[in-house]
Amino acid sequence: MHFDILTLFPEMFTGPLEASILGKAQQSGLVSVDVWNIRDYAFDRHKIVDDTPYGGGAGMVLKADVLVRAIEAVQGDSKAPVIYLSPQGKVFDQQMAAELAELPHVILLSGHYEEIDERVRTHWVDVELSIGDYVLTGGELPAMVVVDAVTRLLPGVLGDESSHQQDSFQHGLLDHPHYTRPAEFRGLQVPEVLLSGHHGHIRRYRLKESLRRTMLRRPDLLEKKELSKEERQLLEELASEYSVEGRVNTNESD
Ligand code: SAM
Repeated sequence: MHFDILTLFPEMFTGPLEASILGKAQQSGLVSVDVWNIRDYAFDRHKIVDDTPYGGGAGMVLKADVLVRAIEAVQGDSKAPVIYLSPQGKVFDQQMAAELAELPHVILLSGHYEEIDERVRTHWVDVELSIGDYVLTGGELPAMVVVDAVTRLLPGVLGDESSHQQDSFQHGLLDHPHYTRPAEFRGLQVPEVLLSGHHGHIRRYRLKESLRRTMLRRPDLLEKKELSKEERQLLEELASEYSVEGRVNTNESD
């Protein structure tokens, strides 16, 4: 998969894209990322990329002529969709990451300052994605979030292919708790079932703990999920664990 990123601050991408799993995925050719400086597409010798807003008001607006020149140069003859990172976009989630991971090539446009010229948004942008209901100074961190979330879903990127299958949101549930050695730490024991070696019991325990986490922390996810017979049974068990004489106890550690 190939990402083209358009930004006014290419230097922001250097560390995050080179380290860890993203760095290795690029070295092994599973993903490639080109970061383009929007300023290189300015028309004048002062490299001006923004101007004051028509109608007045605070902040600077990124110019349509410069942005479109940059988009068209990077897009070429490809049909790569242009994704504008924007707090006004659809909130990015795991399902969108999985959909993007199916594409061979996407262009990520990072805005900055007050906004981009609206004509770019309406005529050159295919999708707007937000990484949450808050406003950042620029689209650079959101672009990195998208590259990271999508890259780890590409075949061959994670050492163990099954590892993202159990991740939170992958099947509409939060991930179960994880433990590693030592089996006892400051009097805190790893749950007995995980030491048993009994795969069936371990699978059921993990599913139940996934359901517990989701029920307590993100009940909205359970409302959207199609539950299997086993999941419904486990939820009934959990519901009875949490209702003591009509009182619902929502403390996970109890
Ligand atoms: N005036 C804009 C508004 O209120 O919708 C906010 C502009 S913000 C200061 C500058 C740039 O940061 C945006 O053009 C966008 O690219 C990026 N940005 C800020 N928050 C974001 C978010 N939550 N998700 C994605 N991109 C974001």
